[in-house]
Amino acid sequence: MPCASPRTTRLAPSPTGALHLGNARTFLLTWAIARARGWRVILRIEDLDGPRIKPGAADATIDLLRWLGLDWDGPILVQSHDLSPYHAAMHALTTSARAYPCDLSRAQIEAAASAPQEGTGEVHFPASLRPALAPRTFDAPDSGWRFVVPDDAVVFTDDFAGEQSLCPARTIGDFAIWTKAAQPAYQLAVVVDDHRQGVTDVIRGDDLIDSAARQLLLYRALGYTPEPTYTHLPLVLGPDGRRLAKRHGDTRLDHYRARGVPAERIIALLGRWCGMGATEALSAVDFARSLDVTRIPTGPVTFTAEDDAWLLQR
Ligand code: GLU
Repeated sequence: MPCASPRTTRLAPSPTGALHLGNARTFLLTWAIARARGWRVILRIEDLDGPRIKPGAADATIDLLRWLGLDWDGPILVQSHDLSPYHAAMHALTTSARAYPCDLSRAQIEAAASAPQEGTGEVHFPASLRPALAPRTFDAPDSGWRFVVPDDAVVFTDDFAGEQSLCPARTIGDFAIWTKAAQPAYQLAVVVDDHRQGVTDVIRGDDLIDSAARQLLLYRALGYTPEPTYTHLPLVLGPDGRRLAKRHGDTRLDHYRARGVPAERIIALLGRWCGMGATEALSAVDFARSLDVTRIPTGPVTFTAEDDAWLLQR
């Protein structure tokens, strides 16, 4: 009898040079949940995000994950090294009339959209801009391509966030799956990779919960099974209630490391943010041993000036 394949999750950093306390908490939690349950963990470098990708940032990210004490199984997959799996998926979607080329600019789409999507920075792509649907050949890889989003709601149970019913047709419309830079867009790349890498469990920040619905639509259109289980964890926010970012000062791990803050002190803070008791130092392995998922705060966690001072104090 063949062994059932093990449950697998992934660390999927985009090498944008911004591994800060918020991303670190998500990566540590992903790793710890998986290791505590005996799952495989793979590392994938998501370096197809155009101008946000910084040279050298992939190596720096890998180095920081190791410094924190995280490890992974098998080779590291770097998305940009081989685009052929994404081409194959595009071939499947275009021949089944699930995708079409579209080079409209953001301004042109905005002009046709009835209202901007509140707060997300994303523009709804109105159905009026969709051409007649037909099987096509994926013959223009330096054009943008969009996915034909069905009207139905996507219903799934998130392991942390609970029951979800999302309707991408209403919130985003036909979304981009291929870019003019001749590369897959994030939504397509992530689905192709999660599927071919046997990822059974996607654990990540809840800023991506809307994307889960888009990704499930792609799973279904591509005939990929099984679909992964999703766990979307609340993000770390700054004192102003906005997502942790540069405006909150330098919260990059590099910044603390360069000031001599040990990884174990950072993990102790991340542990407090995950419902663990106060301690001066915690290794990644001890974090995984102490983790009780039911104690992770269900709302966002706030990074304060006191946290920063605590990290830096000698
Ligand atoms: N690469 C994405 C990021 O760093 C994560 C994608 C995912 O987890 O699906 O935001």
